[in-house]
Amino acid sequence: MRLVIVSNRIARPKADEPIEGGLAAALLPAVSTSGAIWVGSSGRFTDPADKESFAKVEALGTGAVATIDLPRDTYRKFYEGFANSALWPVLHSRTDLIRTDAEQYAAYREINSRMARAVLRFARPDAVFWIHDYHYLTLGSELRRLGIDHPVGFFLHTPFPVRNTMVSLPHHRELVRAMLCYDLIGFQTEEDVANFADYLRQELGVTGTDSFATQHGVTRLGTFPIGIDVDSFAERAVKSAARPEVSRLRSSLQGAQLVIGVDRVDYSKGLPNRLRAFDRMLQVQPGLKRAVTLLQIAVPSRAQIDAYRQLQSELAALVGDINGRHSEVDWIPIRYLNKGLSQTKLAGFYRTARVGLVTSLNDGMNLVAKEYVAAQNPLDPGVLVLSKFAGAAKQLDSALVVNPHDIDAVARAISSGLAMPNAERRERWGAMMETLRSSSLKVWMNDFVSALTVWASRFGLAADLSVEPPPRRRAELTAIQNY
Ligand code: UDP
Repeated sequence: MRLVIVSNRIARPKADEPIEGGLAAALLPAVSTSGAIWVGSSGRFTDPADKESFAKVEALGTGAVATIDLPRDTYRKFYEGFANSALWPVLHSRTDLIRTDAEQYAAYREINSRMARAVLRFARPDAVFWIHDYHYLTLGSELRRLGIDHPVGFFLHTPFPVRNTMVSLPHHRELVRAMLCYDLIGFQTEEDVANFADYLRQELGVTGTDSFATQHGVTRLGTFPIGIDVDSFAERAVKSAARPEVSRLRSSLQGAQLVIGVDRVDYSKGLPNRLRAFDRMLQVQPGLKRAVTLLQIAVPSRAQIDAYRQLQSELAALVGDINGRHSEVDWIPIRYLNKGLSQTKLAGFYRTARVGLVTSLNDGMNLVAKEYVAAQNPLDPGVLVLSKFAGAAKQLDSALVVNPHDIDAVARAISSGLAMPNAERRERWGAMMETLRSSSLKVWMNDFVSALTVWASRFGLAADLSVEPPPRRRAELTAIQNY
């Protein structure tokens, strides 16, 4: 079997650079160890715009990446337009932020169709396609239109909202109908599966619970919570703790405890609520002043879109206000960094922090929550305060699970995390580590791919079930020659 993975952007950060979001963080190690080929946009653009898009292929570990140049204007309307100003807000239940038009929708369909044409060259007889995320809801239907009858699966990294929210999306029926060309659709949580199934029954009149038969074939739905490579992240955290930046952070704390938040600047992450909760904690317990510091890494994201720019300004004002009120000449409550850091540095910072703070209002999984747990010192672990609206909360129930809209409750959770005795911290951490190990990145990938191939072969589609990757050395030598 040759696994062909498709996602929007392919980013290949160097060791000391940040990773752009959870999808890239998951796919980079998955591709480099599985012999798969990963196809996506290069971030460069074709000139002239109507030129057909071709893939440039390079080796990545035992796998390969194929990057595609797309037309600039169409890409912009697709990415900043329909994908991130209509789909993203709806999928995160922020229908008030939908801003789109017919041109953007046409661009969305056009990029899906171009990508399908570009992916065709990888349709060897033993190919199995795995399409990722909301950028490519209609890629499967384009592949079928081009005559591909290989197994084609899809994984949604974001939540899927309740039907009444989904129907706010312009063209929602067309889009979801097109998704029924996928053999398998994977979601992060059971709630997402239930919402999608409810939409299919109520809006499209298709009957079923976890499999739905239509004129396109039979589509199966399943829950596949995405994981991380726990042991390698833990190892990184141990090594990183000795790095100069991490030692500098530790000594700069002057004995204060650290609370850490790491997020893209996105309205789904609940950043204003988090800052307000920290502020509330300091108001209610002034004794904590000087004894605690919040390090908030806020990575700029999608800055061309108004809603994101407004959030950026709101956060800057809020941090200024809180720091202005509580700071002293030699202590500030919030250290606010508007830039991304490498995962290696993050790992060391997570390990230094007594509390990891995740307050998403709506989040597919939230890998930061899992990374924070994996990075802890087993003898003296920190406490995860985790929003019940992050997919991770469905698995990590030994975290301090909070409602991020309840500012007082979040404030209380942070302070009980700071005061929690070692025995309780170890017990909670041990339970979370067990869950992380049993639902690792490898498990996520193997479960999805085997469910896809088994399901598709049941319905007579091409699938060779030999999922073992070729030996590393041979694959590295042949990855490029093959394409
Ligand atoms: N990340 C990073 N550097 C940063 C901030 C985040 O490398 O400065 C990585 C982080 O380690 C995680 C991913 O980006 O793997 C964020 O994934 P998550 O699921 O938490 O959120 P998303 O951005 O996908 O919504």
